[in-house]
Amino acid sequence: MNGHFGDPKKRLEKFRAWGTGTNAIHGAQEPDPVTGAVMPAIYQTSTYAQTAPGKPIGEFEYSRTHNPTRRTFEDALALMEKGTYGLATSSGMSAVTLALSLLKSGDEVICCDDVYGGTYRLFTKLLKDQGLSFKFIDLTKYASDPRALKDVASPKTKMVWIETPTNPLLKLIDIQKITEVCREQGWISVVDNTFASPICQQPLALGADIVMHSLTKYVGGHSDTVAGALVTDSKELADKLYFNQNSFGFVLPPFDSWLLLRSLKTLPVRMRAHEANAMKLAEALKKHPKVEKVIYPGLEDHPQHKLARTQMTGFSGMLSFYCKGGEAEARKVLGAVQLFTLAESLGGVESLIEHPAIMTHASVPKEMREANGIGDNFIRVSVGLEDFDDLWADMDRALKLI
Ligand SMILES: *Cc1c(COP(=O)(O)O)cnc(C)c1O
Repeated sequence: MNGHFGDPKKRLEKFRAWGTGTNAIHGAQEPDPVTGAVMPAIYQTSTYAQTAPGKPIGEFEYSRTHNPTRRTFEDALALMEKGTYGLATSSGMSAVTLALSLLKSGDEVICCDDVYGGTYRLFTKLLKDQGLSFKFIDLTKYASDPRALKDVASPKTKMVWIETPTNPLLKLIDIQKITEVCREQGWISVVDNTFASPICQQPLALGADIVMHSLTKYVGGHSDTVAGALVTDSKELADKLYFNQNSFGFVLPPFDSWLLLRSLKTLPVRMRAHEANAMKLAEALKKHPKVEKVIYPGLEDHPQHKLARTQMTGFSGMLSFYCKGGEAEARKVLGAVQLFTLAESLGGVESLIEHPAIMTHASVPKEMREANGIGDNFIRVSVGLEDFDDLWADMDRALKLI
């Protein structure tokens, strides 16, 4: 860590030539010039000394505004997302709230229909009362004719919220095509990149204005911290976002920032291992007599497999499937697996399994859930890094109970 950070464009410039894997380890994370420490220090401090009123010793004044450990992480993540300005927040939801704080009462957001349950709740239960309006539509339908989005929009439209792959149906939205229309129309485009991580997808390079993360998931990767982030390459948006972040107080503590710096280093290898296990599990489930259908972007029969190949640089580790039967059968499987922990969340080294209709997506109205295909026999799996043979033995045994 360098004591002086200065202009973000300049301080990140020298790392740009490196690939994402190298930046995961070295990007913005040079040995400390004073102590030689290889890992960035945890600056567990709320305030910073000044030599005269308004003259701080370094460039830091108060840790809600900025903190050296947080900034190092924000820089490293920004590099991996091919952006310049990173903002690390206390949770994924505070990152969503921060992005929406760019809007004013009366503005409208177009949002993909299969959106994370917590995002849906924030939009419809809280932000609607603050005067924002939301249209939930199936953005996957606009890949062949993205300009038709203009028919859905109104003069009040100011933002398009894209989550891809979607949760839990793993539909893919064409980022390049949708964000091109957003640029033409002056709508801010935001991509929730939680399911892919910067290793499998880089939305800014595809034209998005802002990328959002729940770092709680793949980026953190060890199910030990709740955190979120926004990254942008636009100075104009970044200035507003930093002002709002400091005003709201949506900030990530120094220790959590340090944990995430540690996690970043293994993110590229973890993502490749998640994908390898998920691919094997998807193929094995597909052949299982107690499984009706498997959804995984890496499978050739996934409706947007071609888009997955061009837009993503990996298929990530999330898959969903429909077991034969209904809720009773799904409950049987969920109750019988031992190596897959029954839990919400995703993206950790351990495999997790859940029932979206009862768990993560309970806050989405039943009609909307069912119209989207989140039925009672629908199961979501976050495939972890255990030995595949053990995972399969466990899953196969549980499915055979149906
Ligand atoms: C978990 C999640 C969020 C919310 O993040 P938290 O860290 O739980 O606040 C937002 N979007 C997606 C896709 C998620 O999976």
